[in-house]
Amino acid sequence: MFDSRLNPKQHRTAVSELARQSFDVLVIGGGVTGVGAALDAASRGLRVALVESGDIASGTSSRSSKLIHGGLRYLEQYDFRLVREALQEREAMVTTLAPHLVKPVAFLFPLQDKVKDRTYVGAGLTLYDVLRGFQRTLPWHKHLSQKGVAEVAPSIRQDVVIGAVKYFDAQVDDARHTMMIARTALKYGAIIATGVKCETLIKDGSKVVGANVRDSESGNLIKVSAGVTVMCAGIWSDELHEQFGLTPGYEVRMSKGVHIVLPGSAIASEVGIVLKTPVSVLFVIPWDGKWILGTTDTEYTGDRARPLATREDVDYIIDQANRILAPEIRIEDVIGVYAGLRPLVSSKADTSTTKLSREHTVDRPMAGFVSVAGGKYTTYRIMAEDVIDVATQDLPIEVGKSITDKLPLVGAEGYNALLNQIPMISSDTGISEASLTHLLNRYGSLISEILTLIERDSSLGELLTEDLPYLKAEIFYAASHEGARCVEDVIARRTRISFESPDAGIGVADEIACIIAPVLGWSSRDRKRSVKAYEQYAERELASKQGVNS
Ligand SMILES: Cc1cc2nc3c(=O)[nH]c(=O)nc-3n(C[C@H](O)[C@H](O)[C@H](O)COP(=O)(O)OP(=O)(O)OC[C@H]3O[C@@H](n4cnc5c(N)ncnc54)[C@H](O)[C@@H]3O)c2cc1C
Repeated sequence: MFDSRLNPKQHRTAVSELARQSFDVLVIGGGVTGVGAALDAASRGLRVALVESGDIASGTSSRSSKLIHGGLRYLEQYDFRLVREALQEREAMVTTLAPHLVKPVAFLFPLQDKVKDRTYVGAGLTLYDVLRGFQRTLPWHKHLSQKGVAEVAPSIRQDVVIGAVKYFDAQVDDARHTMMIARTALKYGAIIATGVKCETLIKDGSKVVGANVRDSESGNLIKVSAGVTVMCAGIWSDELHEQFGLTPGYEVRMSKGVHIVLPGSAIASEVGIVLKTPVSVLFVIPWDGKWILGTTDTEYTGDRARPLATREDVDYIIDQANRILAPEIRIEDVIGVYAGLRPLVSSKADTSTTKLSREHTVDRPMAGFVSVAGGKYTTYRIMAEDVIDVATQDLPIEVGKSITDKLPLVGAEGYNALLNQIPMISSDTGISEASLTHLLNRYGSLISEILTLIERDSSLGELLTEDLPYLKAEIFYAASHEGARCVEDVIARRTRISFESPDAGIGVADEIACIIAPVLGWSSRDRKRSVKAYEQYAERELASKQGVNS
């Protein structure tokens, strides 16, 4: 019924609707939890608005390990409920909610001790597979001999590894997936406004009745009225509770996690690898012909908006990986680096961040105001459902149960049929099968919108750059349909060029600005300003790689 396009016209309408309408639910925060909450509430028939101070997924939700998983490490913490819940979510995403975006991925868990390791890891992975319940799209785990490991992953050192267990999890481009949830919420009528920051709450006696939000473009302060305000601000939760004068039932501590990106040639393996480290686990994750390695887990107290990796973080990841990899990874191999901050809910200030639970907490410190924090990317839908369940108690109307467990995201419907049609579409359009596969796994059945752009202007069918798979049409589409409003949005989140390219995309920033300028109505001055801002952002990220940050 509603259009799912995020673009300048939609943005203008959203900002004016914020002031005009009276909402049932106002969501603060456009990370995966916030957009999930907006979708949950909108699909229950509620009138919903969401404000995000930056871009969709510009916080933690673009900086994760990008795994949709039960979390093997939580088994060791006996957190079986969290594991089971997450595995059920994984199944739903891979099969129904987002099969175009969430893909199975195989991992090897290398063993170093014949009897002890194999028994312990084997038992853990049996439990992991059993906890899924009866819905089992992903294959059961399998034991491999040392010879079997050498065939699948020649880069694993035979002098330290005596075998492995192969098991399956799933992965996703987190920023893209979050944006697609936002588009789905839009499709079901939610108002989505990025670049709009919540500053204060509006209170009527002892009840919150909305919020004052500021549009960064115009500088205008807008009064939004809502039956209930739902905060999904992740690592910003403590700061906002204080700003809003609320006393919450929890606090959110930040734990920094760093990832490095390597070229495909750095590691010879057909599958991902999971390695136990002294404090946690290290993942070696296949990423579109490259590898993502991470992560670290250290307490953090710096700038929330721009966490940066240090040389120490990068060295730690390389050292851990080199315990089992040959040839060794060197700092010169690293293409990209990114850091993110985990929102860990705690009530005690002296707990180590590796021990804090990844489970989420819903809190209602005042009538008309509910918040949720903690959890994992994988369990976003459950967090969203739980917070909206509590929020609806503040509404004077009868509200039905959540239906998001059966609600496919935009692009999911028809995806499998389109996969089968790739050869036919390729011969009809002249676009290579490789490019069509790439497009289908990013847009699903919305691919038709990209193909229409190329049909109108064939130059948009060209690759943006020879060494990455993105077509120019995808850059245009990022601004015309996916809500990108500056060069950084395109390079860091609609595409992942910021960590996939050794120069963090600085070399293509100008061309990207030229492609999106007509959609955004930019003058040449606006264009230059956006490129300059991206260069400054990228230079700080590149400094992490070069070991300048300490
Ligand atoms: C290194 C790392 C690896 C991880 N790996 C995994 C993994 O593999 N699998 C997994 O399941 N989970 C993983 N996680 C956890 C997962 O990424 C997070 O739990 C999840 O992304 C948190 O989402 P969120 O929406 O709660 O927070 P965020 O994504 O941070 O969203 C909060 C949003 O609120 C906005 N905001 C703040 N203040 C305001 C305001 N005043 N007005 C409006 N908006 C505001 C921010 O701009 C931000 O976009 C990982 C986390 C990290 C850090």
